[in-house]
Amino acid sequence: MNYSMTTIGDVLHASIQGNGRVTGVAFDSRLVKPGDLFVALVSDNDGHQYIQSALNSGAVAVLVDDQHDISSDIPAIIVKDTLKALQQLGQYRRQEINPKVIAITGSNGKTTTKDMTAAVAATNFKTFKTPENFNNEIGVPMTLLEMPEDTEVLVVELGMDRPGQLTELSHLVSPDIAIITMIGEAHIEFFKTRANIAKAKLEITQGLKPEGTLLIPFDEPLLTQAAVTQKTITFGQGVSAVHTTAHGTTFVYQQTLFAISVIGGYNIMNALAAISAGILLHIDLKNAVTALQNFDLTKNRTERLATARGITLISDVYNSNPTAVAAVLSALKAIPAPHKYLVLGDMLELGEQADDLHAGLGQTVLDANVDGVYLVGPLLNQNMAPILQARFDSAHLHQYETDQLAELIEDLKTLGEKGDVILLKASHGIHLENVVNALVK
Ligand code: ATP
Ligand code: MG
Repeated sequence: MNYSMTTIGDVLHASIQGNGRVTGVAFDSRLVKPGDLFVALVSDNDGHQYIQSALNSGAVAVLVDDQHDISSDIPAIIVKDTLKALQQLGQYRRQEINPKVIAITGSNGKTTTKDMTAAVAATNFKTFKTPENFNNEIGVPMTLLEMPEDTEVLVVELGMDRPGQLTELSHLVSPDIAIITMIGEAHIEFFKTRANIAKAKLEITQGLKPEGTLLIPFDEPLLTQAAVTQKTITFGQGVSAVHTTAHGTTFVYQQTLFAISVIGGYNIMNALAAISAGILLHIDLKNAVTALQNFDLTKNRTERLATARGITLISDVYNSNPTAVAAVLSALKAIPAPHKYLVLGDMLELGEQADDLHAGLGQTVLDANVDGVYLVGPLLNQNMAPILQARFDSAHLHQYETDQLAELIEDLKTLGEKGDVILLKASHGIHLENVVNALVK
């Protein structure tokens, strides 16, 4: 980006002092690059404290609020609310560059679908996507501001943890296409029912253009039966010949063979959302095939890694909840391997239902027919272990507290033989990524 302070002042109806041009935006002073506008956000930690450090790193101006005094020799844009200003600036850039915008929300699969959709779009268009997981009220405007001038398609991830949030975020990005990946139990502690979660996800249509299209999974009545004013298309039906291999999954859709590098029925759904978005962009199915064969997946989402001993690790340690565990276990079941092992960590943020939901997965784990189970965390040890003990003896069922990852790593180092598979799944707070890193290095 390249804006004069005057332009930014006009966009924000702000008072400005000094002048200059800004070529980037940062809200973390440690990430400031020369030429940046430093945005002082006020949260637990007040960004206004870091103005000097941002200037030292080369910030050419600061965006501050009128509650803080700022020395008159610092180039500054002064507003009432710096977060709102960041969002307004993002919205301005969205209108100015005016790419086709594909916005993605859902309880699980947002980042994966974002990466897949961007890969498909990039076969035909200059495409930019949300970096990593920057999907909240700060990350979304930052994504808009980081979008290059020549962007033709923007694929943006929108997170949601309270009602009203998607209304705001969707107005910010005005999508041409909106995708809801699925409705799960993430944040059920707060929302109480899946119907409430569905309602909150459907807020994405608030900012969806009137002539835009909503893409939803065909098998979710909470979505398919909702009243939506925009055109709605379902995805997920019409798939045949599904096979899980050691390298991923193959399936046929519209007489076309797809091979994706990830496992799990849910990833077929994610791929179909991406393919459907591609079709709306008039992208040839052949291009979608190529794109999905080797798309750039953000780390630790059903990521396949190999240890030095030739054992396949499937790292799904970025987040977890009951639907996601059941989905990845059914994928594991389909993988051909001499022996399969499961390392399962607690699912966090499930509120009052946590005990029941952990116990409720016991049968699913038994049904997965694995050769050994490694449980990490108090919720699993209390609620699931007693169920598994009916089938597994202590040589096959291992239990760890969350501060015993070092012991777990030692036990896993000698587990299994070449060709075996170890699946690791947990909420991010359990930090199984440290176990993965220790095993693959
Ligand atoms: P976050 O809310 O943390 O940003 P996300 O919605 O971006 O999560 P991903 O990072 O794409 O989700 O995937 C996280 C995990 O969710 C995956 O590793 C997988 O276990 C599970 N998952 C992915 N897609 C689906 C899906 N369509 N249905 C159910 N589970 C899924
Ligand atoms: Mg995500």
